[in-house]
Amino acid sequence: MKHLLPVIGALLALLCAGSRAADYSPESLAIHRPPAPNEQGLVVTFMGTTTALISDGETSLLTDGYFSRVKFDRKAEGGGLVRPDMAAITAGMAALAIDKLAAVLVLHSHFDHAMDAPVVAALTGADLVGSESTANVGRGLELPEKQIRVVAPGDALRYGKFVVHFYRGKHWPLPEPLASAMLGNSIDAPLKPPARIDAYKEGITWTILLEHPSGNLLIQGSAGYLPGALAGVKADAILLGTGGLGDLPRAEQEAYYREIVSTTGARAVYPVHWDVMSTPLSKPLVPDSDFRRSMAFLDEMKAHTGVTFHLLPKAEKVLLLPLEKKTAL
Ligand SMILES: [Zn+2]
Repeated sequence: MKHLLPVIGALLALLCAGSRAADYSPESLAIHRPPAPNEQGLVVTFMGTTTALISDGETSLLTDGYFSRVKFDRKAEGGGLVRPDMAAITAGMAALAIDKLAAVLVLHSHFDHAMDAPVVAALTGADLVGSESTANVGRGLELPEKQIRVVAPGDALRYGKFVVHFYRGKHWPLPEPLASAMLGNSIDAPLKPPARIDAYKEGITWTILLEHPSGNLLIQGSAGYLPGALAGVKADAILLGTGGLGDLPRAEQEAYYREIVSTTGARAVYPVHWDVMSTPLSKPLVPDSDFRRSMAFLDEMKAHTGVTFHLLPKAEKVLLLPLEKKTAL
């Protein structure tokens, strides 16, 4: 019996490891911290992929505003024809309780970031902000030119108490043939939907910093990095794109974490772009194929660095950066 003890111990350890891995579910990783009455700060409401409403009670900004959640048709040429789904957009905006919106910040010009953004801008009067490619998505939907703001790397825009900084970033390395069709290129003329999915070319992929009296929130939509691009940038919390992170080689995962999280000194990470992007928003978000590997990696980094990570539940207000403390959760 005695000599069996180490074996039993090892089996137990394996079982525990197994049950620990099973904890990587959206429910167990979710954070719930609705602002209490009179509590001020940055409140974030997440709506799948990289869509998040960020508000300080006076000014609201929206990243991407992607609600149509179209299906990518791998057999169809160019991924198939897609267009904004008005019913899905209005339902999504209602779920986020969007009334006044200052700007839609478009992280890059792929369909799952830029396609619906001009519709949201048109419905709210908000600025559509992004690269020239994003501007051409807006022009294709006849958004008035006065609502379109094209930014360049290094630019900063002020909205209320927010200063929005734009840094050139890098997109996650798509597999071929998508990479050739959709990375390192731009939309050079107004794009009128319905359009092929691969007509929504990358434009510039941004890393955006929201500087605010409550603290600095960095928004990184895609799991890619340009070495040194964020040198000197300080963030308290990060909306971190983890789509495809779990599929990257380990050295690339570590470099991404170092360049985006460690460099900026952020103490709290909130993964975004972790869900299957075609699931309708009327249904619960479904974790993408690499989700567990991405979360396990972030968990490992947490053990090394103390940087926490939580998921933002769909359509729930979360007080991310309280005004008084200036610290992340
Ligand atoms: Zn993309």
